[in-house]
Amino acid sequence: MDRGTCAEADAADPLASARAAFSLPDGVCYLDGNSLGALQPAVAQRLREVVDHEWGRGLIRSWTDAGWVELPRRVAQRLAPLLGADPVELAVTDSTSANLFKALAAARRLRPGRQVLLTDDANFPTDVYVAHGLAELTGDLEVRVVPTEEVAAHLDADVAVLLLTHIDYRTGRRHDPNDLTAAAHAVGALAVWDLSHSTGALDVDLHHWDVDLAVGCTYKYLNGGPGSPAYLYVAGRFLDRITSPVRGWFGHARPFAFDLGYLPAPGAERFLDGTPPVLSMAALDTALEVFDGLDRRMLEAKAAALTGRFIDLVDARCGDEVEVVTPRDAARRGAQVSLRHDHADAVMQAMISRGVIGDHRPPDLLRFGFAPLYVTRVDVWDAVEDLAEVLTTRAWDNPEFRQPRTLT
Ligand SMILES: *Cc1c(COP(=O)(O)O)cnc(C)c1O
Repeated sequence: MDRGTCAEADAADPLASARAAFSLPDGVCYLDGNSLGALQPAVAQRLREVVDHEWGRGLIRSWTDAGWVELPRRVAQRLAPLLGADPVELAVTDSTSANLFKALAAARRLRPGRQVLLTDDANFPTDVYVAHGLAELTGDLEVRVVPTEEVAAHLDADVAVLLLTHIDYRTGRRHDPNDLTAAAHAVGALAVWDLSHSTGALDVDLHHWDVDLAVGCTYKYLNGGPGSPAYLYVAGRFLDRITSPVRGWFGHARPFAFDLGYLPAPGAERFLDGTPPVLSMAALDTALEVFDGLDRRMLEAKAAALTGRFIDLVDARCGDEVEVVTPRDAARRGAQVSLRHDHADAVMQAMISRGVIGDHRPPDLLRFGFAPLYVTRVDVWDAVEDLAEVLTTRAWDNPEFRQPRTLT
């Protein structure tokens, strides 16, 4: 394998045309799309139009004339195929954290009489905070946080809800949503999945997995832009009875009837609450166009090819310096690779100074994300070239790179 064969494989890649939809700065090798997806010029153009024409000139008329009021539904339609879901099962709104609160509260009400919300200690912190907040509010729920490998063993008849994140944000390890959802169902519990590190990069298949509820964000692999609205999925089988704990007028069946009586919208849209953020919703709507008609399996195959190539090159060139902590079996990892190094923060700062942008998770992980739409095999090659040099020359061991940073 050399740079030339990487370029040849890129040219033959069925997703090569998708990369043309993105604009990445010259000299940047962007391997942080798992934290913030890249910008597409079409999204910038849409934002300019929404601001100048729809808001600037159309003013209040744009709620109907420009279809602002339809935006959450339109985005749900674009998103549904990426999740293996029906549009009616999706609400596009709020942050992942807020949606998770609503999803857990709703799931909890579907399983009265059970006291336990089960999750694992590798979960993303916000998920655990939200679970504890709900438990404190309701006063009748115990949050049980167990080691990842013990999750199945802790499923019993007390468990109301199993909450898991599909891809471990630190190691890139993938849970098996099929098996764990079935195990939850076998004891009568509901399974709620956080797909923040999955959708747009992997073959997410909610119907096939038989998931009950799910949440996820849209600013990572879905490229919606910083803080773009998240989504909440409710399996269609619950839509006749599930209720949102946050009843807002946009989740009403007829918000503009201004009726004091609450009547939930027929689909998952009842989990909308307040006025949608039109600017970021419009950006997300356009950002998702690049996925139209794309087979999710192509995304997963590309992610596996990129992460696999990265691991092979790291093994060959940096194997003595770093430990690959991400599973080597592609079916057991997401679209990221994490490497352990005692000075991970300084190493990443040195990499970023060379234009290779990944991130660092304390205490000792270097994280590299491989967004399948725009990362190439040449990017993988170049990143490992820089990494090998930074490590072997100890370029990271420089006061400039040893100031801890607060945000990555
Ligand atoms: C990124 C991420 C979130 C983000 O939550 P927000 O409330 O949208 O900021 C939530 N959960 C997981 C697992 C994530 O990776």
